[in-house]
Amino acid sequence: VGQEDAQYLVSLIRSIPNYPKDGILFRDFMPVFADAKALSILMDALEKALPVPVDQIDAIAGLEARGFLFGPAMAARLGKGFIAVRKAGKLPPPVKSASYSLEYGEATIEIESNAVHEGERILIVDDLIATGGSASAARDLVKACGGTVAGFSFVMELDGLNGVASLGDYPTSSLLTMP
Ligand code: AMP
Repeated sequence: VGQEDAQYLVSLIRSIPNYPKDGILFRDFMPVFADAKALSILMDALEKALPVPVDQIDAIAGLEARGFLFGPAMAARLGKGFIAVRKAGKLPPPVKSASYSLEYGEATIEIESNAVHEGERILIVDDLIATGGSASAARDLVKACGGTVAGFSFVMELDGLNGVASLGDYPTSSLLTMP
């Protein structure tokens, strides 16, 4: 993202201290979606910042819930399909499950086993990477289904938590680094 565009996006992101738990500075990027100009900047930037060439991606997998806001739009722009990675208990069987610890709490996420085809190269997307726990679990789910992780795209990356490093050696892009 250019500096002016990045500043515009950051100016819309709300920071809520001690939500949903004490000690967490929650970054709310919903206002970016509510603003036509910001949404257009965001979608252009995600496409421009793709961590791998578009022809090395077969499908996009987005994490519930905020990865669902822009993942399908991104997939449509790139001419790819979209795969949902959901919280446990929301997808019908057969599913693959992975548990992990979150910046705030514990979670299990799932993917429909048949959603990823053998050898498919999947770009995993989410709004924010903190510890990297959820993105790592999504990576494990894609692999458990026989897919390959092409890379990761995030809108925000929290500084100092080494989330990106925890993912392993994958091409990764994040548009904004937040303290
Ligand atoms: P993690 O698994 O620790 O990388 O956490 C990333 C997931 O938790 C993403 O789905 C985020 O939406 C959410 N999350 C973690 N920390 C925050 C935060 N400070 N503000 C907003 N969302 C967060």
